[in-house]
Amino acid sequence: MKKIIAIMAIVVIIIVGFATIKGQNTSTKHAKNGKITIVASTDFYAELAQTVVGNHGKATAIITKDNISPEDYEPTTAVAKKVSGTDIALANGLGYDTWLNKLAKSSKQTQLIRIGEDVLNEKSGTNPHLWNNPDTMIKTANYLADDLSKKDPDHKSEYQANAKKYISSLKPVTSMVNELKENSKGQSVAQTEPVFEYMLTAMGYKVMDNDFSEAIEEGNDPSPAALSSLKSAITDHKIAFIVNNKQTTSSTVSNIINLAKDNNIPIVNVTETIPNGEHYVSWKLDELKQVQNIAQSQK
Ligand SMILES: [Zn+2]
Repeated sequence: MKKIIAIMAIVVIIIVGFATIKGQNTSTKHAKNGKITIVASTDFYAELAQTVVGNHGKATAIITKDNISPEDYEPTTAVAKKVSGTDIALANGLGYDTWLNKLAKSSKQTQLIRIGEDVLNEKSGTNPHLWNNPDTMIKTANYLADDLSKKDPDHKSEYQANAKKYISSLKPVTSMVNELKENSKGQSVAQTEPVFEYMLTAMGYKVMDNDFSEAIEEGNDPSPAALSSLKSAITDHKIAFIVNNKQTTSSTVSNIINLAKDNNIPIVNVTETIPNGEHYVSWKLDELKQVQNIAQSQK
């Protein structure tokens, strides 16, 4: 027994020793060349990271065009090289951008932060469209500030202040969500894909067509039961509105959207990726304003 404890103690010392050496290496390296490099899968996460790292680093996104889906993206060798030369890879996680997870893991110097698993402690199988919960962006900003503070303790107060600045920039979004929550009254809504689910839940709406939207997201045909329950929710006016992901089209989805139009069910148009030239806050406000208009007209 004692022998085992002794061996374990040695192992622990070795592990702690290596961890310390590795930690020292990273912090001295950054102190020397100054800039911390961060690469994110999408530009709204890069925007967050750039605000938090401020003058002490550079954050860039791999996907910057709104016609490329992070879920289907395949990195080029140039992208692989870029990730391997980066200090931090900021991924959505939960299977959304597996390619970035793989690239970061194959690089010794790149630290991988998966927002789903590492920041939110979620498991795979959870809806990965995490950025549509404003709370995710708040938690990620704080997590990144703490991480950067460990890497580069000299600028800890700046990273913490930058995270606060980012979080307060979200105020227009969070206050609109809170305002809309007062009028949602737990009403049922539908969505063509589970993209906007976290925002809908944050506003207090109840999503009634998970079977339908998940099938569409997976590229499958919804079951007849899922299809008929959504159709009758539309024709019986049981939903306050339907959220349509403009970036995907299928005949099943366009049939549903046309049925909604015929039955005067309002449609909220959202996109999975940020429209070119927009910022996270303006993007979310555009979507929330559509919900606000509907809520006001239904009062
Ligand atoms: Zn998606």
